[in-house]
Amino acid sequence: MKLPTLDDLGPLEGRSVLVRCDFNVPLADGEITDDFRIRAAVPTLRRLVDAGARVTACTHLGRPAGRPDPRWSVEPVRRRLAELVEGVELLENLRFDPGETANDPEFVDRLVDGHDAYVNEAFGASHRAHASIVGPPARLPSAAGLLLTREVEVLTGLRTDPARPFVAVMGGAKVSDKLGVIEALLDVVDALVIGGGMCFTFLAAGGHSVGASLLEPDMIDTCRRLLDGPRPIHLPVDITALGPGGRLFEPEAGGEVRQMGVDLPEGWMGVDIGPGTAAAFGDVIHEARTVLWNGPMGAFEDPRFAAGTEAVARAMAETRAFTVVGGGDSAAAARRFGVTKAMDHVSTGGGASLELIEKGDLPGLEALRGAPNVV
Ligand code: ADP
Ligand code: MG
Repeated sequence: MKLPTLDDLGPLEGRSVLVRCDFNVPLADGEITDDFRIRAAVPTLRRLVDAGARVTACTHLGRPAGRPDPRWSVEPVRRRLAELVEGVELLENLRFDPGETANDPEFVDRLVDGHDAYVNEAFGASHRAHASIVGPPARLPSAAGLLLTREVEVLTGLRTDPARPFVAVMGGAKVSDKLGVIEALLDVVDALVIGGGMCFTFLAAGGHSVGASLLEPDMIDTCRRLLDGPRPIHLPVDITALGPGGRLFEPEAGGEVRQMGVDLPEGWMGVDIGPGTAAAFGDVIHEARTVLWNGPMGAFEDPRFAAGTEAVARAMAETRAFTVVGGGDSAAAARRFGVTKAMDHVSTGGGASLELIEKGDLPGLEALRGAPNVV
């Protein structure tokens, strides 16, 4: 499983290094709203610059359709990057060329041209067999960046030797998005805690009525099977619900907000775990020695339904367990509630962190292990 590190690249003085970063930052009106991913790559970029390398970074940004699109220009990223570390060049959006997602060998040729070494610091893109992820390591001496190395160490460590009890707290919108990772986690955790939109399919599997909450009817049998398995699964015991006529993310639209048990009347939508559940989940988190948190406990972007997610974030900050946050929206929640620094690890990879936990490997990591400098 060991990945080549920056030290495995040898002396870098005067050499040209291509660094694949994940600068896929959120933008609003051309402004970066969160530069977390740019800051995360700075230690690796600075170390390469300090070693005397000529450093060229590259990234994808958004979802342009394989041709130049000014809405997805990397210019805002380039400006922010220049403020954070001097002397790093940034190529234009990789996805302006259809060869990136198609993993076209000719695109790889152009990408590696003129470079002496490659570094993958794009953990969040390493689950994709795209040209800039799997192409260069087949042609250049290659290494994992500092952040990518840490991501892999922490996330694969959860599968191999977690301090116990190991508890996974899962939430987010849908069970179907996360079934693979839930099944993989059930093999290694001591308990699974489920909140968020996905809890309603589990509650329905337990015979509860879920009103107008998110429900995936074709996942009910699967959830029942998981509930019948050997590992304890903690579900909510109370729910914060929005009444008929109310609209999510539109408090002005009115609609009553009420604390309820786990049987919701018709027309009521469960959008957060209730206070009793938040306290109970907090206890589980405090008693654990390792906690993985993925997925908000409710629609926390709406302040009426943020309490459950905030309570879990605070319990994560206070427990003496080793704490790991995975998933883009969960990481955003941790930042929103100001607890990022109190976590042992906040993954920069959404889909990539879940896929690594589920499968134990990623295409981008496999490619690094096959690089010509790896003996
Ligand atoms: P992550 O990115 O951390 O893996 P997901 O993408 O799975 O998380 O889910 C995040 C989204 O789920 C949030 O935007 C949140 O609003 C939504 N969500 C959570 N709970 C509910 C709920 N009960 N009803 C509707 N949406 C919910
Ligand atoms: Mg998400």
